[in-house]
Amino acid sequence: MKRIAVLTSGGDAPGMNAAIRAIVRKGIYEGFEVYGINYGYAGLVAGDIRRLSAEDVGDIVGRGGTCLYSARYPEFANREGQEKGIEQLKKFGIEGLVVIGGDGSYQGAVALTKLGFPTVGVPGTIDNDIPGTDYTIGFDTAINTVLESIDRLRDTASSHMRTFIVEVMGRNAGDIALWTGIGTGAEQIIIPEHGFHLDEIGEAIKEGRKNGKKHTIIVLAEGVMTGAELKEELCQFDPESDTRVTVLGHVQRGGAPTARDRVLASRFGAKAIDLLKEDIGGVCVGIRNGEIIYNDIVDTLENGKHVPNLDLYTLNKEISF
Ligand code: ATP
Repeated sequence: MKRIAVLTSGGDAPGMNAAIRAIVRKGIYEGFEVYGINYGYAGLVAGDIRRLSAEDVGDIVGRGGTCLYSARYPEFANREGQEKGIEQLKKFGIEGLVVIGGDGSYQGAVALTKLGFPTVGVPGTIDNDIPGTDYTIGFDTAINTVLESIDRLRDTASSHMRTFIVEVMGRNAGDIALWTGIGTGAEQIIIPEHGFHLDEIGEAIKEGRKNGKKHTIIVLAEGVMTGAELKEELCQFDPESDTRVTVLGHVQRGGAPTARDRVLASRFGAKAIDLLKEDIGGVCVGIRNGEIIYNDIVDTLENGKHVPNLDLYTLNKEISF
């Protein structure tokens, strides 16, 4: 294998640039010619492909977003799109591909793998919802951004004896809510992976107010319901509460990656190159207990399941009252 390519796909995540940089630089170091594909699978099918030099990835390690741009391109779920993609790769003489993205992007990598094209998946999403890894690129930065926002909300919540519902991202995963709930001392964390009783939450808020608590912060994972819906439900149990809803939205995706995300992305990128150098495709990289690993990507997606650390949920019950 002499010529390889890299693309980013799905939602952007801080640290994707650090991964691209590592793939390009380590690729060149190992003797590969490295190509960049713009706009994910859309750019692949369109042939928006160019050779990248070491200089092309200079000055990006600390930047959020992705210098290769990203796109949602549902057509890639069809065989026709996938075959067109492989045709383009062959046209450019590319023999291996690194896909940086979330689970949807991994589905594309699986499709290419099943059609016989050596592909390596690198987990890049703020949601931390990909099986086969403890952490994904972007998660650490996103939770730090959320922490900062909730800390600010706490100031105003305390001043006005308010209840704040903070809706955070995560798609169907509760990791962002769990980590930021613990990190900000939120009274309640509501995630899709654990049941909850609204009446108990309503009672706890009232009880806290009676006991002189100045504010209540509820961190709600978007996969459960919207903040507005939760407010409406809670009002039935606690009509007196002055409840405000904050939806943090896309600010959670942006910003300079943390040191942890930059290092994780660099390690993942370098591992992807090591694998392609050994002619190993059809895999995805990950981190388990601090060690960089890889797994079969088809098996990971078909049989793996991401589960957040539910010990954190229990911990929050024990320390936030
Ligand atoms: P995030 O969860 O962070 O938004 P993601 O990678 O899961 O990232 P998606 O929009 O789900 O984001 O997927 C990104 C792209 O991957 C899609 O636009 C499409 O091009 C491709 N893709 C998604 N599902 C499939 C599939 N079943 N088969 C082939 N390609 C797919």
